[in-house]
Amino acid sequence: MGRGLRIATIRGIEIKLHPSFLLALLWVTYYWGIAPDNGLLGVLFGVFILTAIFVCVVGHELAHSFVALRYGLTVHDITLLPIGGVARIEQVPMTPRREATVALAGPILNLIVAAVLLPVVLAVALASGVRDAYGFLLMIQGIDGASFVIHLWIANLMLAAFNLLPAFPMDGGRIFRALLTGVSNRVLATRVAVFLGQFLALALIAAGFYTRDVALPLVSIFIMLAAFVESRMIYVEAALRSLPVGQFAVWDSGGVSPDSPLSHAVLGGPRDLAVTEGGVVVGMLWRDEVLARLHQGNSLRVADVMDRDVTAMDVDSSVYDVHRRMLATGRTAIPIVEGGLYRGIFTSDRLVHVHRYLQERFGTRDRYRGLIEALGLMGR
Ligand SMILES: [Zn+2]
Repeated sequence: MGRGLRIATIRGIEIKLHPSFLLALLWVTYYWGIAPDNGLLGVLFGVFILTAIFVCVVGHELAHSFVALRYGLTVHDITLLPIGGVARIEQVPMTPRREATVALAGPILNLIVAAVLLPVVLAVALASGVRDAYGFLLMIQGIDGASFVIHLWIANLMLAAFNLLPAFPMDGGRIFRALLTGVSNRVLATRVAVFLGQFLALALIAAGFYTRDVALPLVSIFIMLAAFVESRMIYVEAALRSLPVGQFAVWDSGGVSPDSPLSHAVLGGPRDLAVTEGGVVVGMLWRDEVLARLHQGNSLRVADVMDRDVTAMDVDSSVYDVHRRMLATGRTAIPIVEGGLYRGIFTSDRLVHVHRYLQERFGTRDRYRGLIEALGLMGR
């Protein structure tokens, strides 16, 4: 998602303004300047409020991001759209507890801001002699400090409330799924949360028609697309869990012996190789290490360079589990055994084949994914 104007970088996370953010500025100009006939002062005040609210939106996304960073996830960037922020956080399988913690962090930040603002809002309301909701509504029409504080307070409450709705792709949907995963499986839990997301989106479209508000249908389109992407990622995950790694491993006749000279091991071109003794995997010969040590002469044997800290996985293990192990060990290949004996190797290159295979199975759905990526709506 290379689009967007970079406005800041915080702890390595780029914060970008999506081109569509111009719509928000146009809306502010109309809502604060033209419609109430407040002129330039109204527009400036509107831009000031918009900026303050989006500082809170950035805070919300940074709260997600900082918790994610603490769990060792990569945060790619944060993009601000007219309808809110999107933090692109690495999609890695996590425990339901961690997933819920990452999701909760955003709304909690807005609740804290709202709690801090509450005494100010009360003081301002008391000082202006406001007695009821109508007086409150009148106050937020004004172009002054009181109106500003109340707007910011309401915005933070709404950010928290909206994001806590138990529907994908809102944070509440993730928390809801994490809770459901405890009592059900992840795919079913996701389906329920996605269904609620679609229901909510339809409700927003209906509300948009009823109130003649264009923002609501726009938000609902965003919700539907994001829910779709989320459900697809979960189906891919479920598919990866059902595919045995044996179906995609590269079959190998026997690996190299620990006693072979290192130079023999690179005869077929440098690559990650399994080291076996009597058919049993005893280590791995990593391509990079071989290349780094080849110049040390011909006296080196495979046993001198091999990595003995290697776990092989069974042919019946799922591609999903093998991939997780690769991520956990930070290695690009894993030896595959059958009945305890070496049969072949699964490398990160093979993952491309797995995804191609899945793409054929899921077919045209990927067109939508392209559309969503183009819109820059991927992420959380
Ligand atoms: Zn959030």
